[in-house]
Amino acid sequence: MKLATDQLESAKAAFGLFSETQARNMFSKEHGSGFEPIVIEAAPRTHYIQPGMVNVALFETDEGLLLVDCGCAGDGPALVKAVRAISDKPLHTIVYTHGHSDHAFGAWAFLEAGEKPEIIAHENLVGHFRRYMLTNGLNARINGQAGRHDGPAWAGKSEADFDWPTRTFSGDRLDLTIGGERFELHHGMGETDDAVWVWAPERGVIAAGDLVTGYFPNAGNPKKVQRWATEWADAAEAMAALDPKVIIPGHGALVTGHEAIKEELTTMAAYLRHINDHAVRGLNEGVLPDHIIESLEVPASYADHPRLPPVYDRPEFVARNVVRRYGGWWDGYPSHLLPATQEQQAAEVAALAGGVPVLVSRARALVATDLRLATHVAEWAFLADRNDAEAQACYEEILEKRAASEKGLMAQTNLRVGKRWVEQARVEHTRKEQA
Ligand SMILES: [Zn+2]
Repeated sequence: MKLATDQLESAKAAFGLFSETQARNMFSKEHGSGFEPIVIEAAPRTHYIQPGMVNVALFETDEGLLLVDCGCAGDGPALVKAVRAISDKPLHTIVYTHGHSDHAFGAWAFLEAGEKPEIIAHENLVGHFRRYMLTNGLNARINGQAGRHDGPAWAGKSEADFDWPTRTFSGDRLDLTIGGERFELHHGMGETDDAVWVWAPERGVIAAGDLVTGYFPNAGNPKKVQRWATEWADAAEAMAALDPKVIIPGHGALVTGHEAIKEELTTMAAYLRHINDHAVRGLNEGVLPDHIIESLEVPASYADHPRLPPVYDRPEFVARNVVRRYGGWWDGYPSHLLPATQEQQAAEVAALAGGVPVLVSRARALVATDLRLATHVAEWAFLADRNDAEAQACYEEILEKRAASEKGLMAQTNLRVGKRWVEQARVEHTRKEQA
């Protein structure tokens, strides 16, 4: 699968100043992106700063600075330097657009430098941080699956590991006056339930957090908590209604121009509603979840939109999230209600087929015509006998081919999880032989 040509530019900008070292040390204060931050004057006294994989918005006022987000923990020092190169005014306020690790963990560097900002977030962010503490091991595991980790794979287990907000707000909106100027903080839901976007009406600028990223919305992550597709669409429409001149997005390139912005936001909203409506209609008509996903069609005007390439998430995953939101965990197949283990099922399939080697050769034959089906057969072969060298090799190869054929990071990462199982099986086997 390929991206449309005009999607490539947006896709390239999507992951910011990405560094492997930082990604392996997401919560280390010592590992920044290693790049010089990108700084762009987005409007008078308004800057887009990209210190690493994420963007930050800086609003200068007569009373001090308003900073929207502050990057990963390791981005802190470079961000302080970049901000100080623009202005020596005190840091008046930090707004967290949400609690994610790439947005809300760089504040420590400002605090350590003696700044005393108000840190403002939606009240749901407190619950978000607490959930991080509760599910520390789970999140470290999910993060670890994206690649090797040298440093802490998650934020921590204690309250001291977070720079908590000093002020929270409930409801839809909080208005601030800083330096005689109004800044509106709007609560939204999208990737998270604690999203905040900031509207500076006198400047015509929105700092959108991850509600705008220049790629297809991350509203369907297979391994994470509920995402909010329709509320995301609501937020996009609310932003469009304000007719902004500039958007400083959470990731990716600066967005400018009234018409282009309006077009992007309304298309994104329509795209999300299209997926949501398809899934809800299916649920109401008694369609099984698998068939809801299989019958999802995405019009080319959405799929090929230059600012919505599916480089991270994909529409099918969003539809699954909608199904999960309104339904239970059961996929509707009676045998799946209280199932035999996948290993038992695979062993039965292998026995019926005439052995694991038959499955391996069938999986390999299917690669040319149906990679999706080939993945099932290769998985049966591996699960039927984890120590079969041919089954291991076949499973690894097919997962890698499948991952390479996907455009989005989430599909790639999660398909490659099976390659780790193969590695583990080999290690386990060698250990047993040596014992
Ligand atoms: Zn983000």
